[in-house]
Amino acid sequence: MRHIPFIKPKYQIWSVAILFIILLAFVYNNTMVESFGGKSYTVSPKNRKILILYTGGTIGMSETNDGKEPQKGYLEAQFKKYLSMYPNTHLIPDYNIKSYDPLLDSSNMSSKDWNKILKDIRDNYTKYNAFIVIQGTDTLAYTASALSFALQNLNKPVIVTGSQIPLSTIKNDGYNNLLGSLLLASQTNIPEVLVVFDNKILRGNRTKKISSNKISAFSSPNFSDVGSFGYLTTPSINNNLIYNNHKGQFKVKLYTVQKEVIIIYLTPGQNYNNIINLVNYNSNIKGAIINSFGIGDGPTNNKHFLHMLTVLNNHNIIILNISQCIEGHVDTGDYETGKTLTKYKVNSGQDMTIEAGYTKLLYLLSKYNDNDTIISYLTNNIRGELSLQPTAMEMN
Ligand code: ASP
Repeated sequence: MRHIPFIKPKYQIWSVAILFIILLAFVYNNTMVESFGGKSYTVSPKNRKILILYTGGTIGMSETNDGKEPQKGYLEAQFKKYLSMYPNTHLIPDYNIKSYDPLLDSSNMSSKDWNKILKDIRDNYTKYNAFIVIQGTDTLAYTASALSFALQNLNKPVIVTGSQIPLSTIKNDGYNNLLGSLLLASQTNIPEVLVVFDNKILRGNRTKKISSNKISAFSSPNFSDVGSFGYLTTPSINNNLIYNNHKGQFKVKLYTVQKEVIIIYLTPGQNYNNIINLVNYNSNIKGAIINSFGIGDGPTNNKHFLHMLTVLNNHNIIILNISQCIEGHVDTGDYETGKTLTKYKVNSGQDMTIEAGYTKLLYLLSKYNDNDTIISYLTNNIRGELSLQPTAMEMN
């Protein structure tokens, strides 16, 4: 055997072993997810199994006489064909697709469909390392928020995605969104519900659909993006932003359909007696969101509006204040038009999106019967969905 000069023969084997370990570490490091700050959620794609729940949406639709409609079997076949062009990539894990019947346009989804997804995640939780939910973009932010609350002590990634243009169109965003979701699921173990769309990785319950046509359809207006995809096949993740809610045994809470939440979108001069009639008529209404002006204000010189609040109070309906503004906090201390609302037990939704506020209230109403308990969780952070203080992001 040849000897390495300058190294004593008895140390030569050790030198070769150390060099080999350094080389391995170098190769591994260069195929790792780029992550900065905090605990790393990077994992090896090897042996990971992903369950894809395909609920419908534009992504798998094709043109019919009545407009675009989801087509059975199409998405699975197209995605398989697409991936087969890259047979050697070790980054694509083992995956199974469960296709829902019927496939839905997400505008037709309700809390019953969230429950279907929740049951599938619950029943397959130990068999898979991560879950991807494919759905239409219209109510995607509602689903992502709803899942984030109902999945308690989550310790695996649940990624929600879809597309603006169907796979059946030559230039589309579907393959990129699907692939990004699969790559994120195979290489990280982020214990959150995330949205992957147009190379952005967003916290699910901070997400909003902000454009009906643009490819970059989703944004997280009050919270920084958790990560992104760029040139590489590996995502870049800001670990400091991950909200780890894994504090005990994983559990799923299904949504009850018996308790309803209404959203009262304020407009100048609106006749609020209509809302009074509605809540007097429907005793299932247990929560109301005041979608307020600006920093959380309402028409406090309008006696019908104040009477409506009194009626809501008399019915023990929990009231949550979320601003019509896309960015920023509710701060009812600022103007009389806000302060007066607090006298009518209107609770600040802080910087929650309407999607997060709506699904959180439904979740808490499904879980608890006591209004004080519900209000205490509603007004505090439980899944990273709100910040109690204004963040630098909203002030800049
Ligand atoms: N209407 C479609 C849906 O939400 C839109 C989409 O998927 O982009 O199902």
